Amino acid sequence: MIEIYLAIAVYLGLDIWFAIEGSKRKIGALRAFLISFLLTPIVGFIFVFNSEKKFAFFEVHYQCSRCGYEFTEKTLYCPLCEKDGHKVELEEVKKVMT
Ligand SMILES: [Zn+2]
Repeated sequence: MIEIYLAIAVYLGLDIWFAIEGSKRKIGALRAFLISFLLTPIVGFIFVFNSEKKFAFFEVHYQCSRCGYEFTEKTLYCPLCEKDGHKVELEEVKKVMT
């Protein structure tokens, strides 16, 4: 009897895993879950991993560690701090755009 519960737990575990994986892809979490739940996780696996990944957009900004100002273009030193006589190199920061 315990084997049935174990099988159900594995089945649902796979469905949930595919739903999480599906949420990062074009298929979406709900569709990934329903496909693997209704048509077995084997079919779900095929659908989810053939679905394209969503694009994550990164925008690179350059931030000054002294004044905290962000620039979209890279310069050798922060132009604002340079006016004050400080040469502060800019740090690259990645911004996720969704
Ligand atoms: Zn600065």
